[in-house]
Amino acid sequence: MKKLAILGSTGSIGVNTLDIIERFRDKYEIVALSAGSNIQLLKEQIAKFKPKVVSVLNEPLANRLKEELDPLDIEILYGIEGTNRVATLSEVDMVVSAIVGAAGLIPSVSAIKARKNIALANKETLVMAGKIVMKEAKENGVTIFPIDSEHSAVFQSLLGHQKKDVKRIILTASGGPFLNCSREELANVTIQEALNHPVWEMGKKITIDSASLMNKGLEVIEARWLFDIPYEKIDVHIHPQSIVHSMVEYIDGSVVAQMGLPDMRGPISYALAYPERLPTELPSLNLLEIDKLTFELPDEKRFPALRLAYRAVEEGGTMPAVLNAANEIAVEAFLNNKIGFTGIPHIIKQTMNSYKVKEINTIQDALEADSWARMKAKMLI
Ligand code: MG
Repeated sequence: MKKLAILGSTGSIGVNTLDIIERFRDKYEIVALSAGSNIQLLKEQIAKFKPKVVSVLNEPLANRLKEELDPLDIEILYGIEGTNRVATLSEVDMVVSAIVGAAGLIPSVSAIKARKNIALANKETLVMAGKIVMKEAKENGVTIFPIDSEHSAVFQSLLGHQKKDVKRIILTASGGPFLNCSREELANVTIQEALNHPVWEMGKKITIDSASLMNKGLEVIEARWLFDIPYEKIDVHIHPQSIVHSMVEYIDGSVVAQMGLPDMRGPISYALAYPERLPTELPSLNLLEIDKLTFELPDEKRFPALRLAYRAVEEGGTMPAVLNAANEIAVEAFLNNKIGFTGIPHIIKQTMNSYKVKEINTIQDALEADSWARMKAKMLI
């Protein structure tokens, strides 16, 4: 029996993870859950999975939950301390890190320091502080299993091979809803259009990031740290069908790709069950029904966010944390109708331009760059 804690249980990845676990109750036990403010859904999850500990966003929400649940059955916590406790409970074997955005960094690091294996959906953890996080993981004997579909594909395509033989990694991107929009059209897209992803069903933040291609930029940085490979060896191909989830090219010219239907339950179940596989009952991938698989290079003129991410990882140090924070603020501003869609990369670029990059030696360095960039981006907006 694998004992799990889920950080971000009411988000898209959390819900999909619990959907899998529900069908494999003989293999997995939910020990703890952390959520934000979706108390209604959390209560349903508590009733179903009976965790021993839960944590919510703040004290009033925790009090509300306490009034409605029997305190003898469950420990109810809140805030960053509560999330950290969920991430570090002694009986937990694996922590599913699925909080959205920079808020996922500290609990992920706490879990690693407590020697928990990680199923990582929160890519920002590696974008902001990949160097430190991977060092901590190594020192604590922790394996990080990616839940991101592209990184799960690379992880699978690397198995049985040696890193010295890798020529490059090719991350695929669906291209999002605006793949064929002109620059003029992009300036006027609505929030609803941006949230309407053609292939993947995901949370709001990542859906906007997919539309701007910033998601792919963050994934390049994530891959750089997760697989310890120079960013120059990571390429991006637009692949609208989202069947090939990513590829690894080897020095002998062989390319290993991982394929599957675009459904997050694939990479989640792989991360949970490794080295085994779970019979997920997802429909079979039928290549005979798929007309064709196409690949093209991303257009950096229309989608400058990807280039900004390469620039951030090239400049190194704290710059990726600045990129990430400016992006979070800009996406929020777009979702609140304060800037247009093309304003997102613009704000990020301006924020990066006015930042002097620093070395990153501690998590604190990343957090300071993060707060600076948030302030700067807000001012610019
Ligand atoms: Mg992805």
